[in-house]
Amino acid sequence: MPPLELVDLKRQYAVIGAELQAALDDVIQKSDFILGEAVTRFERHFARFVGTQHAVGVASGTAAIWLILRALGIGPGDEVITVANTFIATVEPVVLVGARPVFVDIDPHTYTIDPRRIEAAITPRTRAILPVHLFGQCADMTAIMEIARRHDLVVVEDAAQAHGARHGERLAGSMGIAGAFSFYPGKNLGAFGDAGAVTTHDEALAARIERLRNHGRSQKHVHQEIGSGERLDSLQAAVLDVKLNYLDRWNAARRHWAGRYSELLRDVPGITIPTVGPAATHVFHLYVIRCPRRDALQAFLHERGIRTGIHYPLPLHRQPALQNVAFTAHDLTATEQAAGELLSLPMFPELTDEDVQYVAATIREFVTQR
Ligand SMILES: *Cc1c(COP(=O)(O)O)cnc(C)c1O
Repeated sequence: MPPLELVDLKRQYAVIGAELQAALDDVIQKSDFILGEAVTRFERHFARFVGTQHAVGVASGTAAIWLILRALGIGPGDEVITVANTFIATVEPVVLVGARPVFVDIDPHTYTIDPRRIEAAITPRTRAILPVHLFGQCADMTAIMEIARRHDLVVVEDAAQAHGARHGERLAGSMGIAGAFSFYPGKNLGAFGDAGAVTTHDEALAARIERLRNHGRSQKHVHQEIGSGERLDSLQAAVLDVKLNYLDRWNAARRHWAGRYSELLRDVPGITIPTVGPAATHVFHLYVIRCPRRDALQAFLHERGIRTGIHYPLPLHRQPALQNVAFTAHDLTATEQAAGELLSLPMFPELTDEDVQYVAATIREFVTQR
């Protein structure tokens, strides 16, 4: 039997491959590759899905964050409050625009930014809060928006793992000044390569980002400012527009499998199942358990044909890339603990009950054997 992957995209392609091929062929037949019809259509549909006035298709999730910060005029001398247990793409743009990342700790149960830590980290230079809706669960946006309002800060949502996740009634990417989405292939909504989007209610911000993604171009041959080539291409947009129709179903399937895992693992000693916050609708981009003997458990599962992941073994403040960069790290105790104990189990909509039962039984075997 082939191993059970952390994410198996082949199972998805087996179901909707023909539909995707037709959408790709349509773009190719029309040679409509750059900022074409498919991009405009997907932007309209994605904005409607998230519940914002605008969505701007861009080249990646990293580009989305970078363009938002640039369009907001965040740069040298400014500070951005965020977390260290995330993919490095959350802070690369902060550093690239010349601002200073300020890391605060996470809530030890939800693994998202702990709002109680934010206020103490605010200085006269703070411009923005950049929460990450990690693993498919929104950060506590009620508390974060309230702090931002009191201190006149903007909130930029890193929604790269949270397509369709809710905080109360609001969707990820619709609560702050802007949301950044990644459509990296393994995300809940994934392209056939790199792709991303910015969502916002702010018309001027959307227009600025549209210009920045396309070489600062205001009209043909006129470039108003130095931008970049960070467009979403039509082929990716065509793929995403087809897949968007399935996203709610896929997220429901992810929640179903998460529920099954939690049922089967709830009483296993030494294993902590994910905590869903009171206002959150979690979309389980990843199903992440906690285990003090994480590395041994991962090896045990690997030997039995189960692939897992670690998100993230090396927090950003310990990354070599950050060592020559000016940043502030507040107390990060919960972040450090999570880095040593979290383990991501196979999670994708096309899992079967046999898959989930096998993973859970193998974890139980690991715990009881010694
Ligand atoms: C995937 C991801 C990104 C970056 O997205 P890319 O499309 O790979 O550039 C940013 N932040 C988080 C939390 C992510 O998971």
